[in-house]
Amino acid sequence: MRTPIIAGNWKMNLLNKDAETMVTELVPLVKDADCEVVLCVPYTDLLTVRKCVRGTNIKLGAQNVHWAESGAYTAEISASMLKELRIQYVVVGHSERRQYFGETNEKVNLRAKAALASKLRPIICIGETLEEREAGRMEDVLYTQVVECLKGFKSWDFDKSIIAYEPVWAIGTGKTASPEQANAACKFIRDTIKKKFSAKIADKIRIQYGGSMKGSNVKELMAMSEIDGGLIGGASLKADLFAEIVNYNK
Ligand code: PEP
Repeated sequence: MRTPIIAGNWKMNLLNKDAETMVTELVPLVKDADCEVVLCVPYTDLLTVRKCVRGTNIKLGAQNVHWAESGAYTAEISASMLKELRIQYVVVGHSERRQYFGETNEKVNLRAKAALASKLRPIICIGETLEEREAGRMEDVLYTQVVECLKGFKSWDFDKSIIAYEPVWAIGTGKTASPEQANAACKFIRDTIKKKFSAKIADKIRIQYGGSMKGSNVKELMAMSEIDGGLIGGASLKADLFAEIVNYNK
């Protein structure tokens, strides 16, 4: 049995005051959730949100991490810096990082391994663009992303890692992959992990779907056998909208 995990990705949104208001509203709304609840917030909100989620069932995450321990990497944040703030999760390889900041699978792999070495749980994002899907290259792209992003992982690293399948064409566009499309892609990812690593690892690893997930479609997406959760952008910015997703089975 894989515990479902619903994570919000605030991206570059919410000033401190708004973050505090949002989380204060969210806490009572999700206190009886049956899934793991995570908020991945901007670095500048980490301390504020940490205060608000203390003693609750909401876990805290960041949105990126550098692979070096320290050094001349202006504007970057290391895993031990996040660990010091008692962060548990970190998103790596989000498609916006790939699209606007030249993120590659190789770097995603380094970031994920740095996170794991500091006992942070990486949420490793992969997914095809519309062009790749329409050219019939979805499986090739996902295969390469799985192999390259998880390169060198030890069996225990998989226990701590989450994969987020996020078709780029569904992120922030209002277009959601159909439950069948999302499930097929997540199954392909799981089958690839089985082939390249082991059946046991593939069975255990949690795979989220991300891409315009909201209250109106979460139930049918979460009903699919290969989907173990969601990574939510836009709808994670408002407490009531995010709570509706978290409480999908209520
Ligand atoms: C995301 O940013 O990971 C995402 C899925 O965004 P949205 O839910 O807004 O499509």
